[in-house]
Amino acid sequence: MTKRIRIKDRYIGGGAAITIQSMTNTRTEDVDATVAQIQRLERAGCDIVRMSVNNADAAEAVRSIRAHVKVPLVADIHFDHKLALASIRNGIDKVRINPSNIGSLNAVREVVAAAKDAGVPIRVGVNGGSLEKESIAKYGYTAEALADSALRNVALLEQAGFDDIVISAKCSDVKMNADAYRILSAKTEYPLHVGVTEAGGGDLALAKSYAGIGSLLLDGIGDTIRVSITGDPVEEVYAGDLLLKAVGIRRNFVNVVSCPTCARTEIPVATLAERIRRETAGIEKPLTVAVMGCVVNGVGEGAHADVGVAGGREKSAIMKKGKVVKVVPNERILEELLRAIEEVDHD
Ligand code: SF4
Repeated sequence: MTKRIRIKDRYIGGGAAITIQSMTNTRTEDVDATVAQIQRLERAGCDIVRMSVNNADAAEAVRSIRAHVKVPLVADIHFDHKLALASIRNGIDKVRINPSNIGSLNAVREVVAAAKDAGVPIRVGVNGGSLEKESIAKYGYTAEALADSALRNVALLEQAGFDDIVISAKCSDVKMNADAYRILSAKTEYPLHVGVTEAGGGDLALAKSYAGIGSLLLDGIGDTIRVSITGDPVEEVYAGDLLLKAVGIRRNFVNVVSCPTCARTEIPVATLAERIRRETAGIEKPLTVAVMGCVVNGVGEGAHADVGVAGGREKSAIMKKGKVVKVVPNERILEELLRAIEEVDHD
């Protein structure tokens, strides 16, 4: 079990629900635009929002932004520890910073003192593009180097007396990325922020993140996630939510399963499955609905579902908990399934 870290009213690690993070891509000092984007992210279900604090105006904007949104906010800072101090002073909830790139040990101590005072955790976030020279000298450009680099930064914080830490160690190579997290998971109890960096855009970005983050989550590794996609950050939140559902971590939804279809298929499986998915998108109940194209295999294969249909030529079997409860004309499948879902909902 990882250590539990508090960020405003959320927790990361220690068995807390896995949170979804994203990052704004507005100019942080443009308070109106940044607040508007954060509010969109909140509405989409984002649990924690990060923003770049890359200049003094951005650090000053933290105060106004903090006042307008509820979600915990993270300041992403490189090189200049004064920006971390200003962000903490202005009410930031967490700082992402690498102690090795903010200057002297005194600078690290100053940030640690301010973070401790304010109860602000720090994420050490190393990337494949900025590994410590010592780590590369020791391990080459490998997962071991990525993990080593993260732990060197963690050690700097620990030496300054700080342990309110979350770790990330991302790179754009999916396998190396996952291997680095496995090493970290074995070596440290700090919670892990998992993601694949520079994943790109579109379907390929999703595939990389689903493989890279999903494989770790299935093995119980990862306490908070970010699906990186170039473009509108709201898409990252939807993708993160789908990922958590797909790996069985979020179960409070109607999980529509459907057969792949084949020559035996008697009903429009894809259309029906999509309609049901849309019609039930707002239902927060752990239900499985099976849409199966034929009765030959469909009744048996849909038996695990709470509600299902097995398609016939003109009439289809509606099932509940694996038992056929009704046979209905094919044009009524959708309404009968929705009614059955409603009834299970009230059981
Ligand atoms: S359930 Fe029936 S229609 Fe669907 S793939 Fe299997 S055999 Fe084919």
